[in-house]
Amino acid sequence: MKVLAILYNGFNAAVKEPRLLGTVENKLGIDKWLASRGHEYIVSSDKEGPDSDFQKHIVDAEVLITTPFHPGYLTREIMEKAKNLKICVTAGVGSDHVDLNAAVDHKIQVLEVTGSNVVSVAEHVVMNILTLVRNFVPAHEMIERGDWQVSDVARNAFDLEGKVVGTIGAGRIGYRVLERLIPFDCKEHLYYDYAKLPAEREKAVKARKVEDIEDFVGQCDVVTVNAPLHEGTRGLINEKLLSKFKPGAWLVNTARGAICDADAVAAALKSGQLRGYAGDVWNVQPAPKDHPWRTMKNPLGGGNGMTPHYSGTTLDAQARYAAGTKSILENYFEGKEQDPANVIVGVGAWATKSYGQR
Ligand code: NAP
Repeated sequence: MKVLAILYNGFNAAVKEPRLLGTVENKLGIDKWLASRGHEYIVSSDKEGPDSDFQKHIVDAEVLITTPFHPGYLTREIMEKAKNLKICVTAGVGSDHVDLNAAVDHKIQVLEVTGSNVVSVAEHVVMNILTLVRNFVPAHEMIERGDWQVSDVARNAFDLEGKVVGTIGAGRIGYRVLERLIPFDCKEHLYYDYAKLPAEREKAVKARKVEDIEDFVGQCDVVTVNAPLHEGTRGLINEKLLSKFKPGAWLVNTARGAICDADAVAAALKSGQLRGYAGDVWNVQPAPKDHPWRTMKNPLGGGNGMTPHYSGTTLDAQARYAAGTKSILENYFEGKEQDPANVIVGVGAWATKSYGQR
């Protein structure tokens, strides 16, 4: 059986750090295991265009492994060429780089390692919130420059205590963010989601559901996005919705870049409507060198907490999603039932509601 994996390059770092499992060099740690079972295993980072390894090898691969950190975009058009393709495994969480409706039509199963990096991301969200609210990045840059002018950074630094924090999506990550915020004594924890949490789960994280998204963002000092990218969330945070935010609010998005309109966010930061924007996800990955989110700033020259997509690929997370990928493959090879929580698209049918209500 041919197994194709599209992963990111680790170069020297991956040679020196074998726990960088999700790299081309370390192959999710499953190369010897696959070889011992007689499978052909192709691993590459080359994913764009018709001459890429991705498009060359997808033609006869039965199994595709991709990762959200360096997404191999599996479009309907590419699926039409992939005559043998039966299963796509996302090494991580978030399979929006696969055309999921087309996967249903082509009877290609899509699975992800649900839960594998949700703590990693929740911790990153809390860090991003604090980074913005405390105005950390300009303060650190000042020190690197050799300057020391406390008032220049203190003029835009606040406490998180007493602020209203809201999450769009109160699933595995969003809920864990609220759990981790409890000791900060925020004024309120809000959430916007389809379903209401059970009363005891709400109480445990001091959360209140707000039904209308404009009403929700209008009440929050900090908004964090923790919902999947799908038809209902693509471009959700656009110019119109940003105009409903509290002036000077902070926005943290580690879910997916395309949930926000990139130009509208950059403009809102420039005008001060947003005081800060942070996250690690971009509408195209790798992000082009001239992407506005790399350099956008608020009127005081700060407010940008962007990084490359790495919140869910800590070494701890890589160990979990590499093990989860192996277990999904093992089930597939042996015809065993998959863990239902991992199944996004089953054979010819959606298996989850998480990618939009339908
Ligand atoms: P999850 O447990 O499925 O939670 C997502 C929640 O969002 C669910 O409660 C879902 O509701 C809700 N939701 C869906 N559409 C919504 C909408 N339009 N408005 C409000 N809420 C909506 O997923 P998770 O594990 O928390 O992960 C969430 C996302 O984070 C992933 O899909 C992925 O895109 C991203 N992520 C990023 C990284 C990273 O490294 N940056 C790593 C992991 C995950 P229902 O269940 O009722 O549909």
